[in-house]
Amino acid sequence: MRLAIAEINLQALAHNLAQVKRFAPGCKVMAVLKANAYGHGLVKIAQYLNDADAFAVARIDEALALRAGGLTKPIVLLEGFFHQDDLPILLANNFQTIIHDENQLATLENTSLDAPIACWLKVNTGMHRLGIAPSQFESFYSRLKASQNARDDIKLMTHFSCADDINDEKTAQQIALFNSLADGKNEQHCLANSAGIIAWPKGHGEWIRPGLMLYGVSPMLNGVGQQHGLEPVMRLTTRVIAIRDVDADQCVGYGGRWHSDKPTKLAVVAMGYGDGYPRHAEQGTPVVIKSQRYGIVGSVAMDMITVDIGDNRDNIKVGDEVIMWGPELPVEEIAQCATTIPYELLCNITPRVSYEYQ
Ligand code: PLP
Repeated sequence: MRLAIAEINLQALAHNLAQVKRFAPGCKVMAVLKANAYGHGLVKIAQYLNDADAFAVARIDEALALRAGGLTKPIVLLEGFFHQDDLPILLANNFQTIIHDENQLATLENTSLDAPIACWLKVNTGMHRLGIAPSQFESFYSRLKASQNARDDIKLMTHFSCADDINDEKTAQQIALFNSLADGKNEQHCLANSAGIIAWPKGHGEWIRPGLMLYGVSPMLNGVGQQHGLEPVMRLTTRVIAIRDVDADQCVGYGGRWHSDKPTKLAVVAMGYGDGYPRHAEQGTPVVIKSQRYGIVGSVAMDMITVDIGDNRDNIKVGDEVIMWGPELPVEEIAQCATTIPYELLCNITPRVSYEYQ
């Protein structure tokens, strides 16, 4: 019997893409599939996103994996390229690139290519990660327009840093700065990540870049995907592999981090940080067994966690399914218990976990 399983609900994925389009009617969708489609399986997820207009990944290897998987849609490289030798790969595979700094632009200008590459000029409007300074915009734009190696329609992009917080004025400032640069140019715009799509309609532009919301998870500071009409795509489950009695006043697990204050029963569950479950999940982080919530106790180990099932009034047995997160138990809640974000939990699933696409 297989233990740790990530069930991937492809109907939920299709539903979420439709929901993205309801938030941003008429926008073209660049589905963000980096980091193994946020841990959901790169090629399988891409194959099911027929209604997306393009895919976005961070790195060339991810884009090549999509082509090797038979995907033919446009693919945008969100980190762009690094070396002259990358450019023929971009051309041969019909990859589109971000241009975010002088190095890239100079390399593009000074390489001999058989055909032009589709470019997205990325402007830093406040994230201070990738992107040219607003003061460089005019010169980069005209150099790209003049270059034989860039396709004539230069698309314009920026990225929000705080769109998950509807009370943070920074997003409105980023939108205003971007528009002040881009408005005079007759090019397509792309600004919004999932939080931008949900909360900042003025930042939609012609193109949107949803990642997390495609997987049914809320990109906002608080709350869960369901509040935005999204359905969780991943259900992470495993099995109870032992039940044990523990007397009062016993220390459980590595470091004895949890003490039993009365006699109880523990379910030992086959899931640990070796599967990607967060080691820092706090005491009491919920799991679901037989439709009931129970709290984890003791340290999360590589292969196992222990769950306090009290007097076992639900008659939990070895082999019973344990839900770590999914529609019954939002991954957003587990992320809070582990003082992290759902993005990290989803990306951290390890190859030991089996995938089932339904
Ligand atoms: N655009 C860029 C440049 C990104 O780096 C990301 C992801 O971090 C996204 C879009 C998608 O963001 P989200 O998953 O919050 O929708």
